[in-house]
Order: sequence, then C-alpha cells, then structure tokens
Amino acid sequence: MGPATLPTGGTELVTTCASCAQDLQSLDRFCRNCGTRRGGKGPIVERPAVILALLFLGVGPLALPLLWRSRHFSRSQKATITTLNLALVGGIVVLIVMTFQRYLKMLLELSSG
Ligand SMILES: [Zn+2]
Repeated sequence: MGPATLPTGGTELVTTCASCAQDLQSLDRFCRNCGTRRGGKGPIVERPAVILALLFLGVGPLALPLLWRSRHFSRSQKATITTLNLALVGGIVVLIVMTFQRYLKMLLELSSG
C-alpha cells in the first residue's frame, strides 16, 4: 500500500453551527458556543449578522433588546456595541438637526429676497 491519501471531501460529515459556524460535536444537540439548536437556523432576527445590520443600518437602538437577548454576544461585546450604536445614532441626529437648521436658514434668506 502507498502512503495514505487525505480524503478529498464529500463523504466527511462536518457539522457546524448554522448560527456562528462553530464546529459541533457529534452528540451535541445545541451549539456549545452560542446555544443555537442543531439543524435549526432559528429565527432570522436572532442571527448576529442580522442583529448588527438592524442596529447599524436599520432601526438603530430599537434593535438593542434583540442584541441584549442574544446569546451570540458576550456581555462586554453587548456593552461595546450598545455604546457604539448610541454614539452613532446620536451623531446622526445631530447631523440631521444641523442640516435642517442650515436648510431653514437658506429658505429664510431666499424668502427675504
Ligand atoms: Zn453557534
């Protein structure tokens, strides 16, 4: 017999968590990393990528309860993400107010001739 060759894939059953891609042990029913049930993807809003997208691209701080309920993030990660999110949203609000004020001033100047 020659040297053993590595299998080129296909037959090897590799199970990874649908949520966080952690390797699952063959007897695990739940992911040891994030607690997602094996085989099930779980509600879409509980996926870390979706939560982050909602926070930073979508509904902003309204998605914070999702973040804090999620088991995909550690406590310090949650605190960091919350701070970042509130800072970002605060910055956007200030920007909108400033833009609105400038726009209002421009309108007033236009109307006064
Ligand atoms: Zn997982």
